[in-house]
Amino acid sequence: MSRHKDAALIFANHALLADGWASDVRINVTDGRISDVVANEVRVPGDVAVPVLLPALSNLHSHTFQRAMAGLTERRQAGQDSFWTWRDLMYRFMDRLTPEHIEAIAALAFMEMQEAGFAAVAEFHYVHHQQGGVPYANPAELSERIFAAAATTGIGLTHLPVLYTYGGAGRQALGERQKRFGNPPDQFAALVDAIGRALTDLPVDTRLGIAPHSLRATSPEDLAQVFPLARGGPIHMHIAEQPKEVADVQDWLGARPVDWLLDHVPVGPGWCLIHATHMTAGETERLAKTGAVAGLCPVTEANLGDGPFNGPLWLAVGGRFGVGTDSNVRISMIEELRTLEYSQRLRDLARNVMTTGEDSVGTFLYQNAAKGGAQALGRKAGQIVVGHLADLVAINVDDPSLCALPRDRLLDGLVFAGDARLITDVWSAGRHMVREGRHILRESIVDGWQQAVSTLRGAM
Ligand SMILES: [Zn+2]
Repeated sequence: MSRHKDAALIFANHALLADGWASDVRINVTDGRISDVVANEVRVPGDVAVPVLLPALSNLHSHTFQRAMAGLTERRQAGQDSFWTWRDLMYRFMDRLTPEHIEAIAALAFMEMQEAGFAAVAEFHYVHHQQGGVPYANPAELSERIFAAAATTGIGLTHLPVLYTYGGAGRQALGERQKRFGNPPDQFAALVDAIGRALTDLPVDTRLGIAPHSLRATSPEDLAQVFPLARGGPIHMHIAEQPKEVADVQDWLGARPVDWLLDHVPVGPGWCLIHATHMTAGETERLAKTGAVAGLCPVTEANLGDGPFNGPLWLAVGGRFGVGTDSNVRISMIEELRTLEYSQRLRDLARNVMTTGEDSVGTFLYQNAAKGGAQALGRKAGQIVVGHLADLVAINVDDPSLCALPRDRLLDGLVFAGDARLITDVWSAGRHMVREGRHILRESIVDGWQQAVSTLRGAM
């Protein structure tokens, strides 16, 4: 490792490097990337000094606008509430959003993600048009609002414009409130082009991929037509979140969603399948072996009553995973990891499930979610190594929940005993946006959010 002492930026008493913990580590960041990592160094005046430094996670699945619905859907309606009754409320809420709302809500959600320890996010962006499905004068208007929110907050962004063509399995027509999402493939291609042109002003770590919403909202022919639009960027898709969609797809296409996809599409490491909840053992093994990332959103999956992921089998066959905040009802990197493990314990009446060895479960969850999340975002990150983006997070080990823990138990303390108060600093591709636990633009971002939600929430 070469040394550039004059340009060193960050000094950590302890850092979790790719090959384990190291002490007295100086990290040099150049143009957003880690350009040097040296252990057993001496702190130099001017270094940003932190007690413990970790690679930051990427949040692999978000619909930012849903952040503004948090707290509005937890009241029982007539009959039994479900994912599908929640979805009706979400559509009603979404239908009232203006471009200004979308930008202000996204800025708040992105800021909260950073304060929660996420350096980057994949925004699965499916509201494209005005009410009733009329395109904006600039068809990329709402994507550009997401870009503006990302630029304000400094979060690393992988933008995933969504193809959403049908109202349900078997090419059903879009419902009235689904028309804001709708594009046939040709119009979607034009939209992706327009979005690509708007990307040029964004930081170089910004990525563009595509997201066919789900099998139920697309068709086999349309999927084949849009895959080339990813141009090497990531492809994300909701798959098998609810038993009803599995049954609907099976009735229509003659196979369960994951089986159908793997039979017809070359799924590989550039793919991220969101939820992947209701899979047979055969589907679980097949999908894991493709190298695709399972996009798990445990807090949302619990909130919506989706069910638990088959973690033990997925890990046994080498499956990769990351976590996402999806509906953003609660934005917490720590709670996503904790809920993932607890969902397995509750189902299996067991402890320490999400690991393949006998080491710290917190460390296994954290490091694998960091690597899997970065893979899903098409982002060279997830480990503290030279050449990776400087997506970094510092934690406060003086907090009562962590103090006096041995170093190799710190991530167990973080995941199982901690909360966001432990997150002191976050860098997104070297942009040092969270300091002393707060985003540096918190006040103005919260002001914009308060104006947006005060006009939105009251009437729900
Ligand atoms: Zn989703």
